[in-house]
Amino acid sequence: MSNLFYQTRLRRPLLDRAEGVYMWDVDGKRYLDGSSGAMVSNIGHSNPAVLEAMRRQMEKSTFGYRLHFENEPAEEFARQIAARMPQGLDRVFFVSGGSEAVESCLKLARQYAVAIGEASRWKVISRFPSYHGSSLGALSVTGMSLMSAPFSPMMREMPKIPAPTCYLDRDDLSDHERGLKYARYLRDEILRQGPETVLAFIMEPVGGASTGALVAPDSYYAEIRRICDEFGILLIADEVMSGAGRTGQYLACDHWGMRPDLIAFSKGFGAGYMPLGAMVADRRIADAVIDSGGFIHGFTYAGNPLACAAGLAVLGEIDRLGLIDAAQVQGDKLSRRLQALMQRYEFIGDVRGKGLLLAFELVANRETMEPLPVGLNAHNRLVDLAYDRGLIIYSRRTRGGRIGDHFLVCPPLITTDEQIDEILAVLTDSLDAFAQ
Ligand code: PMP
Repeated sequence: MSNLFYQTRLRRPLLDRAEGVYMWDVDGKRYLDGSSGAMVSNIGHSNPAVLEAMRRQMEKSTFGYRLHFENEPAEEFARQIAARMPQGLDRVFFVSGGSEAVESCLKLARQYAVAIGEASRWKVISRFPSYHGSSLGALSVTGMSLMSAPFSPMMREMPKIPAPTCYLDRDDLSDHERGLKYARYLRDEILRQGPETVLAFIMEPVGGASTGALVAPDSYYAEIRRICDEFGILLIADEVMSGAGRTGQYLACDHWGMRPDLIAFSKGFGAGYMPLGAMVADRRIADAVIDSGGFIHGFTYAGNPLACAAGLAVLGEIDRLGLIDAAQVQGDKLSRRLQALMQRYEFIGDVRGKGLLLAFELVANRETMEPLPVGLNAHNRLVDLAYDRGLIIYSRRTRGGRIGDHFLVCPPLITTDEQIDEILAVLTDSLDAFAQ
């Protein structure tokens, strides 16, 4: 009998140790970490350089409260991050996770509007489906009804537009036209809400758990930026899952040259070595808020030296090991192998993603993309079959949306060709068992 409680009664084995792409439970069973936890362990487990940097920092100090001390790891980490951002996005605000990073973006955006005399702006448009975190602010922009419904009296639900699920569309539009069609939903919603009331638009440049690695056509990204500029609306990129190299660029936005005003980071940013996240802000926004009397926001563990030393070492390892290129190269290989599975299994309806942020979706009918019946519980069944066979993958079924059971196959960026073979072997075996 355990005293722990989480989301459900589901219990998994006790974790003993982890190294590289593998994890072992206390009975000695080995698992390949095919989803990097929840797209977190980008540089793999127990990286010696990161552990050594943490050990060195631990011997000096582990915590210094932000109002009492600055610290060198935070200064250097912020400098290194700013150097990887588009020009002018160089103000870094550290937090301890993804929801905190999103929350920080929402609050900085709002305070900026007030600071520049546009206090009528407060609505943040987001997409459906989407996931931006589970704190009430982040939840208000999250497009997953099941997660937000019980809390609706306690928060202000923000307006949503459809996520660009072009792969489900059966019209005669070209990719380019589809991108513009979905971007137009934003323009229409801004006009419907009243542009003077709209503060920001938040999106995952490459979708995460909610949409299963959804990528929009190229035209979408430029058009979204143009529409935000047309109405003076801030663009917030939630790169919590897609950032820090996972898609084959440091920022997923970089694939399209889309420059956000605010960015939320976490997950691969600390790679699981410490709870860590950050908001990166355009300097004009951060400075206007600071100059107007200060940012009314903060978390106790912001920028603590141990977390920042870990993050700095993670960044160093991403560079040293060439993991951003690896995400692209290994991602292309894994993607091709997943695509090939579509010939073998009629019920795989789509394979999508960017770099090593990849997913496949199961359907009842590939022509119509009709999802499998909810009662089949496919997303849990296939995950369990793979888990029994020593492969961890991450799945979701977004109720209410058009997207069906999808599975994120997102191993650490250090994954070798042999390990890709291993992932495919176990996945094939699991899909065979699922098909029976
Ligand atoms: N945004 C995105 C895109 C995410 O994927 C997540 C976590 N799945 C979050 C925000 C929230 O992060 P956390 O769970 O660390 O609060």
